[in-house]
Amino acid sequence: MPADFWIASGIAAASVGTCLWLLHRQRDLHDRLRETSLRLAEIRTQRHLALVEEQSKQQALLDSMVEGVLLLDEQGKVEHVNPALVRLFNLEKDIRGIPLADAIHSPELADLARRAAQQGRIVDQDLVHAGIKRLSLQVNAVALRDPDRLHAGTLIVFHDLTQHAILAEQRREFVANVSHELRTPLSLIKGYTETLLGGAKDDPDTATRFLRTIDKHADRLTFLIEDLLTVSRLESGQVIMNLQPTSLHEVGSQVLDDLKSKAAERGTILKNDVPLNLRVHGDGDRLQQVLSNLVDNAIKYGRPSGRVAVGARSLHEDIVEAWVADDGVGIPVEARERVFERFYRVDKGRSREQGGTGLGLSIVKHIVQAHGGEVRVESELGKGSCFYFTLPRVNEAA
Ligand code: ADP
Repeated sequence: MPADFWIASGIAAASVGTCLWLLHRQRDLHDRLRETSLRLAEIRTQRHLALVEEQSKQQALLDSMVEGVLLLDEQGKVEHVNPALVRLFNLEKDIRGIPLADAIHSPELADLARRAAQQGRIVDQDLVHAGIKRLSLQVNAVALRDPDRLHAGTLIVFHDLTQHAILAEQRREFVANVSHELRTPLSLIKGYTETLLGGAKDDPDTATRFLRTIDKHADRLTFLIEDLLTVSRLESGQVIMNLQPTSLHEVGSQVLDDLKSKAAERGTILKNDVPLNLRVHGDGDRLQQVLSNLVDNAIKYGRPSGRVAVGARSLHEDIVEAWVADDGVGIPVEARERVFERFYRVDKGRSREQGGTGLGLSIVKHIVQAHGGEVRVESELGKGSCFYFTLPRVNEAA
């Protein structure tokens, strides 16, 4: 064989070998490339899933917050709101994408967001928002920065302090009312005592009259303090109701018996119309207080020589409706809901004159509610009033 042949064959074999090697290498490279891109895709998917998980955790966190949260984008448009914020402001339409000032009409809030964006630190402000309902809010705002420290939006958190504000106002009102109620009899006692000491004691008739007045106002103070203690115990939930099957007729008889001399003074006829067999799950002493306050009022505000009746009936198998009716002055429409409020009186002079504390019906409402019942009043001016309350019934058949 000529040497050229062998050289050519050698080159051909080497080329084939190189080609095969190249082919193999290319396939290998291709496989590795495929594997790498698959792994990349897997990593990307995992990252995406982690991001989605992170985002949904953040979303769940925001959604479960009791505070209202509002996120503004870098242009001051609403980017996100949580459900608490929607409830707080009673938002009916989606406010995302709307500038803050158009979404929630509050110049103070817009100013707060502006200050937070400028100052780059948390800024706080208490504000009152007069929307559908008046809100007392404590608002914190903070500017968000991106990795290049550029303004990326503003986060605003709203703490609803409306209930606290209402309670604080009620407490202030209560203290003012109590002080006023205490001051009136005290200053009368002081006035009469000074007059007696100044010489009126020398006239026995005047002295007796003044001492009677002092005694009456001292009694008023005692009743007031007793009622205040009862209201405060009932409102703080300190009173535990001892619920027992109780005959409402017997409680009624006891109350009417206790108040018969007071009724006799006004010529009022008392009547117990509660069926004998009707029993309720109730605390006997507390129910006596309920009926006593209602019958006492019915005598006080009833017609002289009028009639006062206590009655009851089954509303259905497990509820009893009881009532105390009189034929007295009646209660104006606008006062019917309010008479159950502490210290609310239709006729202040008349109530004080009769030794009223302004707390009787509030005590009635608390005791009835503690039994799971409700109170209401029906009245006609000049014709009379009927106070109704419900109680859980003892189902004798069961
Ligand atoms: P008070 O000590 O003033 O009687 P209450 O809480 O018992 O306080 O009652 C509140 C107010 O409701 C009374 O001042 C009175 O104006 C009105 N009221 C209560 N019961 C009657 C009634 N039977 N008829 C008319 N007005 C009533």
